[in-house]
Amino acid sequence: MAVATDIEKTDEQRAICEMVRQFTDEQILPNAEHYDSADEFPEPIVEQMKELGLFGVTIPEEYGGMGLDLTTYVMIVEELSRGWISISGIVNTHFIGSYLLMKFGSDEQKQKYLPRMASGEIRAAFSLSEPELGSDVQAIKTSARKGDDGRWEINGQKMWVTNGLLSSLVFVLVKTDPEAEPRHRGFTCFIAEKEPGVSENTGEYAGLTVPPKIKKLGYKGVESTELVFDGYRCPPENVLGGEEAGLNKGFAQMMDALEVGRANVAARGVGIAQRALELALRYSQERKAFGKPIAEHQAIQFKLADMATQVEAARLLTLRAARLKDAGERSDLEAGMAKLFASEAGRYCVEESFRIHGGYGYSKEYEIERLYRDAPLLLIGEGTSEIQRMVIGRKLLQRHKL
Ligand SMILES: Cc1cc2nc3c(=O)[nH]c(=O)nc-3n(C[C@H](O)[C@H](O)[C@H](O)COP(=O)(O)OP(=O)(O)OC[C@H]3O[C@@H](n4cnc5c(N)ncnc54)[C@H](O)[C@@H]3O)c2cc1C
Repeated sequence: MAVATDIEKTDEQRAICEMVRQFTDEQILPNAEHYDSADEFPEPIVEQMKELGLFGVTIPEEYGGMGLDLTTYVMIVEELSRGWISISGIVNTHFIGSYLLMKFGSDEQKQKYLPRMASGEIRAAFSLSEPELGSDVQAIKTSARKGDDGRWEINGQKMWVTNGLLSSLVFVLVKTDPEAEPRHRGFTCFIAEKEPGVSENTGEYAGLTVPPKIKKLGYKGVESTELVFDGYRCPPENVLGGEEAGLNKGFAQMMDALEVGRANVAARGVGIAQRALELALRYSQERKAFGKPIAEHQAIQFKLADMATQVEAARLLTLRAARLKDAGERSDLEAGMAKLFASEAGRYCVEESFRIHGGYGYSKEYEIERLYRDAPLLLIGEGTSEIQRMVIGRKLLQRHKL
């Protein structure tokens, strides 16, 4: 099937993107500096996002969502990330959780969670990483054992959980069959319920502690936490897909979700790169050196040209990966390429814009300083650039096997 590779939008996509751009210009950009410097959760912005339906973009209408495709979703993520990547981080793990439910959840699980997720009443986190592993997911140590009452007792420590404190649901990958070979056949995804905003869960959620949030270089406002499971008891109906269908199927489910997650991180790279370019275009025409605006020096124009080219290429790769997925075609290779290229383009454009700002780029008075601290996260989350290259290389050889 032919897949569009241009950046044309449908009328609906154009209208939604204009609405999100206006929201970003009026609500996110003027307030990001405050929430970033205070490292404070942007509650009023999130409340408005709930009203706009941004927590249910891809959730089907029958569950109260907008029922839109991945392509429209990545367009929205680009717009939000242009404002502040922490805002897209608040939506990102929630989006992955809803994808997991829509694709693998049982009917009961969909009925139970999706309507409240679509409205943003409850939000979701996604947890693979542990203190001793990130790239090497098969090294997971957190484990669950079935008790006499049929409940699964989870023990272990998770690391770097975005939205770890304020979420109500955590899609968490744990080891359920320690003897399984290969190891990934012994992993299960549980939907761990918790009380949002509470560090020491009690009652039916006892055994789950959220330590104080991790202090970070950038990506402020949205919390990243550890999660400590110590005798946390999960009912069997909270195995993703139900116990019969979902037990020991978690690794494949999570890897599938990472594919859409990668298109999503790519869109964040496009958004931050686009904003860095806008800031560079403005500053270079205002700042004068050697008797003329620095934009009139060819060396600066070349920087602008390279940045704009990177932004366009990153956007096209991202849309292509999303459109392939929407068309029901394989997109693992393309999502890996989009994530690799767009996250590196984000870092590149931010650094070039920073250089164009001269000394002022180093000052907190200028927005580029925040972007400079935020951009590196995109090189790490949802698989580092090295891991993307491993995925791309492996998939290339699979597709072109002699
Ligand atoms: C702010 C933030 C938010 C995050 N949010 C989440 C979240 O919500 N949920 C979640 O589960 N995780 C989350 N993560 C974790 C993230 O996914 C991991 O940090 C990432 O996958 C890298 O893992 P690691 O940090 O353990 O690095 P490691 O895996 O230890 O890698 C260290 C270095 O070695 C390289 N490397 C590793 N293996 C190879 C190899 N085979 N060949 C070549 N190079 C290799 C890596 O590329 C990297 O450069 C988050 C991380 C951050 C910083």
